[in-house]
Amino acid sequence: MRCAYCNKEAEIYVENLGSWVCEEHFERYFLKRVDRVLRRVRRGSSLLFGISGGKDSIAAIHSTDLLKEKYGFRIGAVMIDTGSDECLRVFNELKDMLGFEGEVLSLRDWGIEIPRDPKLACFVCGVVNRYLLNRYAVERGYDYVATGHNLDDMAYFGLNNLIKHSLDYLLYQYDSVTEPVPELRMAGKVKPLFWLSDSDSLSYVKLKGLPRCSTKCPDGLDKQAIIKPILYEIRKKWPPSLVNFVSSIRELVRMAEHPQRKVNLCERCGYPTSGKICAFCRLKESIGGLR
Ligand SMILES: [Zn+2]
Ligand SMILES: [Zn+2]
Repeated sequence: MRCAYCNKEAEIYVENLGSWVCEEHFERYFLKRVDRVLRRVRRGSSLLFGISGGKDSIAAIHSTDLLKEKYGFRIGAVMIDTGSDECLRVFNELKDMLGFEGEVLSLRDWGIEIPRDPKLACFVCGVVNRYLLNRYAVERGYDYVATGHNLDDMAYFGLNNLIKHSLDYLLYQYDSVTEPVPELRMAGKVKPLFWLSDSDSLSYVKLKGLPRCSTKCPDGLDKQAIIKPILYEIRKKWPPSLVNFVSSIRELVRMAEHPQRKVNLCERCGYPTSGKICAFCRLKESIGGLR
């Protein structure tokens, strides 16, 4: 099989293109899409990566690191310790390789324990991750939190929020870059892999020989496990469908009227929430009952 762009042997299948490409053209394809996101971030910004150790967060920080000089970015990273020694090793290996400032955050220091019940674990993990990444970024003077969310996640979030009729997420967070709001103690968000899929991240970490660990969530009943395979079925027939689906939602969101978003500062911790007390503080207060 020949590469779709040159005469070389093709090694990698790119699902969103529906074509086989050589290693060199794969890297070009990948970095071009990361660059499409990064060029929207203010020059000279500092980015804090939340690293799980899975293929996506690894591919996101490695590719951003390759492009950081161009935009004068400062890069740092944190891993939230969920008790996997394998993931901690991956984090430290990556830190030595790329030389970023990095820290492992222990949940115990925050008075949080991930409950054993897998359904609760997923919920707690989500709340804790979002909160700690934002808070750490704001306290340490980072402008943005960067995550490994990719195109497949965005397609899933898009469809899931549409079928739940939950428009808030789509209106305020459905983008590759959202700007920081310092007066609300909200870091901006960057998703370097916004235009790249699961299979692309996997090909990238393999191509670059990067370390990674398994971060499979224990909850097999996760809605993603139902929705993503349906999206993949559609893409098998029409390769550009997921890219188009995500672009369409994003364009519609941009055209829509955006009512003033209600954000308060939490009465306990002073970080943003839509209510009076944020999800993290409520969780901490009820954690005894969750175990
Ligand atoms: Zn090629
Ligand atoms: Zn709070």
